[in-house]
Formats: sequence, C-alpha cells, structure tokens
Amino acid sequence: MATAPSQRIVIAGGGIAGLATWRALKQQGIDSLVVERRPLAADGGLAINLPGNAIAALARLGLAGDIERLGHPVRKREYRAQDDRLLATIDEDAFWGEAMRPRAMRRSDLMGLLGAGLDASAHRADRSIADVHQDATAATLRLDDGEELSASLLVGADGVRSTVRQALMAASQPSAARLASASWRFMAPNPGVEGWTLWTGRRGMILLLPVDDATVYGWVAVDSPGVAADDPHPLDQVFGDFPERARKALSWALAHPEALYHSPIEEVRLARWSEGRVILIGDAAHATAPVWAEGAALAMEDALALAGMVAGADDTATIGRRFEQARQPRVAHVQAATDRLSKAARLPYGLRRLIMPFVVPRSYRATYAPLK
Ligand SMILES: Cc1cc2nc3c(=O)[nH]c(=O)nc-3n(C[C@H](O)[C@H](O)[C@H](O)COP(=O)(O)OP(=O)(O)OC[C@H]3O[C@@H](n4cnc5c(N)ncnc54)[C@H](O)[C@@H]3O)c2cc1C
Repeated sequence: MATAPSQRIVIAGGGIAGLATWRALKQQGIDSLVVERRPLAADGGLAINLPGNAIAALARLGLAGDIERLGHPVRKREYRAQDDRLLATIDEDAFWGEAMRPRAMRRSDLMGLLGAGLDASAHRADRSIADVHQDATAATLRLDDGEELSASLLVGADGVRSTVRQALMAASQPSAARLASASWRFMAPNPGVEGWTLWTGRRGMILLLPVDDATVYGWVAVDSPGVAADDPHPLDQVFGDFPERARKALSWALAHPEALYHSPIEEVRLARWSEGRVILIGDAAHATAPVWAEGAALAMEDALALAGMVAGADDTATIGRRFEQARQPRVAHVQAATDRLSKAARLPYGLRRLIMPFVVPRSYRATYAPLK
C-alpha cells in the first residue's frame, strides 16, 4: 500500500543533482526522501572538474570551506597539439577570481560533502525505482522490492537514463553526443602535468587534470570505430604519437583496467522538464556532452533554484513551469556552446590546429562569462 503523500518530497536518484536538492531543501528547513539504487552514490574512483559557477553553487550550499580543503585548484588551462605544441592558454585564476577559483576533486569527496548528514530516515539506499505513475493528487514510485512511495512532489534526479523521465514523458530517450564515438575516464599517477592540459590530435583527444600532487584524472575521447567499449587496448596505438606525458598516463591506465571506465557520452534535449507533480533536474533533464564541464554546476544550480521555489510555494504542483522558465535560458546557453565546440572538434586536424589559438580564448569567454 502506498504511504500518504501529504507534502512529502521524494527525490529519485542520489547523484550530484539529488543530493544537492536534498541539501538545498534542508537549508530551507524542508525534509525530503532520497531513493538511490546504489549503496552509496560515490562514482567509482573518478574525479570531476568544477568551473567557477560550480564553486559558486557549492558555496551557496554551505560548502565553500570544504571545497577549498578538498578541491585541487585549477589555475590555468593549456590546449596543445598532438606534437605538444602549445596552441592556447587560459588564465582561469584571472577569469574567475579567487572566490570562484575552479577546482578538481574526487567524485567520492564531492558526493560525501553533498550528502553529509543524510541518514537512513531520509535515504532509501540500494533500492531501485522500477516504475512511476501519477494522478491529480500524487506521484507514486514503485521500488524494486514492491514498496510504493507517494509524493506531493517527485524530483527526477536519476540521470541520463532516467526511469522517471522515461515513465512519464514520451520520446525522451537519450541520444549519442556529436563529440566523439567513445570515451574513457581514469585516474593515474601524475606524469608531470601542472594544470588542466588537453592534447588534441587526428583521431582523438586526451585531457589530464591533477587532483592532488601525485594523481591525475584523465579523459580520453576517440572517434575511432576500431576501439570497442570492452577492449580499450587499441587506444595505445591511437595515441601512439602523442607526447610522452599523455602516453604515460594512458599506458598506466591500460595496464590497470580496474582504473579505466568506459564512459558513453549521451545527451538529453527536452522542451519540457515537468509534468504535473514531477520535475526533472540535472542530467535527467538536460545531460550534455562534458566539453565545458558544466554538468555538476547546472545540476547544483537546478537544485538551489528548485529548493527556493518549493520554500515559497503553497502548492508544489504549481512550480514546474516556473522552474523551467527560470532555468532553461542558462541550460540552453550551455547546450549551444557545447554544440559549437563539438562541431569544431570534428573539423580536420590541420584546420583545428590552425584556428585553435584564436578560437579557444574567444569561446572560453563566450561560454563562461554569462555563467559567472
Ligand atoms: C565522460 C564524462 C565526463 C564528465 N566530466 C564532468 C566534469 O568534469 N565536470 C562536470 O561538471 N560534469 C562532468 N560530467 C557530467 C556530470 O557527470 C553529470 O552532469 C552529473 O553527474 C549529473 O548529475 P546527476 O545527479 O544529474 O546524474 P547522475 O550523476 O547520473 O546521478 C543519477 C543517480 O540516480 C541513480 N539512479 C538512476 N536510475 C535509478 C533508479 N531507477 N533507481 C534509483 N536510483 C537511480 C544513479 O545510481 C545515480 O546515482 C561528465 C560526464 C561524462 C559522461
């Protein structure tokens, strides 16, 4: 039997968006219940790049000091060609300023901060949402063990393959991103990079980002049909003529398959993010290829905006449209910037190499200035 909804808020998914929503609601004195299929919403051993507007959102979530303690400062970006030639440098410190200094951190640390204080009474962990339906009075989740939870407001924060979205919204399958056919993420000993460093080449790109003095987070994207998801070893050959630092980190990861995660890049583009008592946020609403590393920032901003609206509303069933109107322009801006960069990443290598020194600084400013 379903429990009475009264004014209960249920959050489907305890990733960045879900935990940030729980936390933002708590700041407003509002209780909610998080349902998460994993025992702990820690995303493997991976890391994340957090641009200045993510840092600003974390500060609004009361975590400024913790982020300074656990996040590794990212002061500059270097864009390089596959022969190591420096094509463009971005001074991120100068752009964002000290209070919004970008940081890199382990995802498990970020999840730990967002979810600090979440106890069993507000958390159904290790439980999967099997189905969702709603009527005029409540949205109801059915969990994999048959339990039903009713809510006056259901927040769909269950990621790019959202069960909530697929149950309630037609034609809402994610699509493959235009950026690349496949990507992998890994952690490796730092081969000697000082800051955010991207090498771009004929068949792919490698990004290395220090998360502490000894370790880098790596991301490899290829447009190479010869590399299968379950056998990344051809990557060694694809990146065989990249500079030694990039090859060293990649070879280490290939020799430690437990540290290498295949990461499909999928996107969600929807005209509406709400339906009755259900509101989608984060990747469930607008997953975007991570070329500008805006996924976490947008998810946390969604959470803060939603919590503010819930706090000011007499009936939470009425805020869906207002939430969309408030958030869509910013998300559309990131989607458009992502499309422009994804298209540029597919230009022939020789041309890319030629235009990057001019295009990179301009598109960095054009993307991030409105997000400051
Ligand atoms: C290769 C790659 C690199 C990226 N790099 C960056 C980066 O550097 N910076 C950045 O900001 N963003 C980055 N992103 C994007 C970022 O990871 C996402 O935008 C962010 O994680 C979205 O958070 P979310 O909470 O909306 O979704 P998710 O993190 O996917 O969380 C959804 C949660 O819902 C749970 N869930 C799903 N279905 C169910 C179910 N049926 N029942 C119960 N629970 C369920 C999942 O277990 C998960 O914990 C990257 C993405 C990719 C693919």
